[in-house]
Amino acid sequence: MKCRTETGGFNKRLTARRIEARGKCRIPSPDSPLCGKSMRQRQSTKGELWGCSRFPACKGTRGEEIC
Ligand SMILES: [Zn+2]
Repeated sequence: MKCRTETGGFNKRLTARRIEARGKCRIPSPDSPLCGKSMRQRQSTKGELWGCSRFPACKGTRGEEIC
């Protein structure tokens, strides 16, 4: 019982720390909507944008709405 409670608290703290490190975005690394691979954050004229790490082979992108 005691052990389980401690583990839960640890995980909660770790998650909060990760979100803090990432700044305003709540999702650390989204998956490409087309191929499922990880995405990279890019700067566009409209602001921050997620592009597939396989670009230009994959044209998968995500906008700011995921953050
Ligand atoms: Zn992709």
